[in-house]
Amino acid sequence: MYLYNRKVRESASIPSGSRESGFGGLAATVVAPHPRTGEPCRADERRIRPITEPAPHELVNIAPRYLADPSRPKQLHRAAYEAYLRMKVAAEADGIPANLLTITSGYRSVAHQQRLWAEALRKYGSPQAARRWVAPPGGSPHHTGRAIDLWLGTRNSSDNIAALRATLPYKWLVCNASRFGFFPYAHEPWHWEFNPEGFVAPSTRPATARTPTPSRVPRPSVPSTQAVPRAAAPGARALRENLRRLALQEGQRWGQGQLKEHDPRMRPVLQDYWLTGVKWIPSTPRWWSQVPWSAAFISWLMRKAGAGNAFKYSSAHATYIKAAKDNRLANNENPFKAYRINELRPEVGDLVCKSRAGSGANYENIRRGLATHCDVVVEVQPGRLSTIGGNVDNSVSSTPVRTDANGYINQPGYFAVIKVGEPSR
Ligand SMILES: [Zn+2]
Repeated sequence: MYLYNRKVRESASIPSGSRESGFGGLAATVVAPHPRTGEPCRADERRIRPITEPAPHELVNIAPRYLADPSRPKQLHRAAYEAYLRMKVAAEADGIPANLLTITSGYRSVAHQQRLWAEALRKYGSPQAARRWVAPPGGSPHHTGRAIDLWLGTRNSSDNIAALRATLPYKWLVCNASRFGFFPYAHEPWHWEFNPEGFVAPSTRPATARTPTPSRVPRPSVPSTQAVPRAAAPGARALRENLRRLALQEGQRWGQGQLKEHDPRMRPVLQDYWLTGVKWIPSTPRWWSQVPWSAAFISWLMRKAGAGNAFKYSSAHATYIKAAKDNRLANNENPFKAYRINELRPEVGDLVCKSRAGSGANYENIRRGLATHCDVVVEVQPGRLSTIGGNVDNSVSSTPVRTDANGYINQPGYFAVIKVGEPSR
């Protein structure tokens, strides 16, 4: 049973009478029964205003597995895509099949909308008739890259609304999407807009400002014209201290290695390592134990610690080790530089890296594809380091590393120390 309430509410001035671009200032609420309990869930429209196209660097390609038609590449605003990925993982965890809630439409350029508009004019004869089905160029929230059309399992069409509203994924969206920053458009059950409280389109902010991630919404509302000041990037000392504190905190979260990756209670934590750390998540069945996640963990630590754009985030340690080696050779301003273990004494907050699975990785040959592993140094004592890493013993665990009388690593397998230093100028 579907109720559909139109709430009269003030909203920003918007073009009236255009599909997907609002309804003359009226915001609507959609209602659907909870998929399990049958209790009514409500979701309010929060239409995106103003409609602005994102800068090219704010657009990201959607991975094929999330496309309803993988042969037709599509893009989204990075923030919307990250939120979508979190939402998709949660939906699948709630039993929504992976082939549903895939994306049928995302970012559309104004030029593309011009083609759709021309087609609609031909088909429906007049602008008045055409705009019932297609937003005029410039008016579609799809221009922002933050509107998504989703595949609910049945035809997305205005003559199929009742069937769409009866689908499980639609009910799930009404009950859950707002948690991820997505809001409905009452007339099109497939159309959802990423517009969390306080979202400021990055194109209206300084180019250096951080993109908000859904885990931090809702946030206090900030007028879109107001610049969001960027927190100063932490210096090397603060960054190392953050890394130490976060690594210890995660060790605690995993019960000092007692909680394991297959434990369903740890799944949201692992999801966060992937999605925050490297901005994707494997689609492999039982991904939590099938795909090594230690580099995703390090990437997560770096992002949380405030490494910003300096760190080469990757699901493979070799990638960022190689980048840090290149930084060292170039003697550039990047604070992450890799040294041989006999060149540098590790300090708290540095990464120590070893070869893995007999890959034979060493400082001289390090490159993408060689199996390696790095941990964060959390304590330095005479003769030993204490380190913490992810995917160690199927958990986040501590590993001791032997050092010699001068404080250099003296344990087989280790070959590099990634120094978290001040950028050299
Ligand atoms: Zn749409």
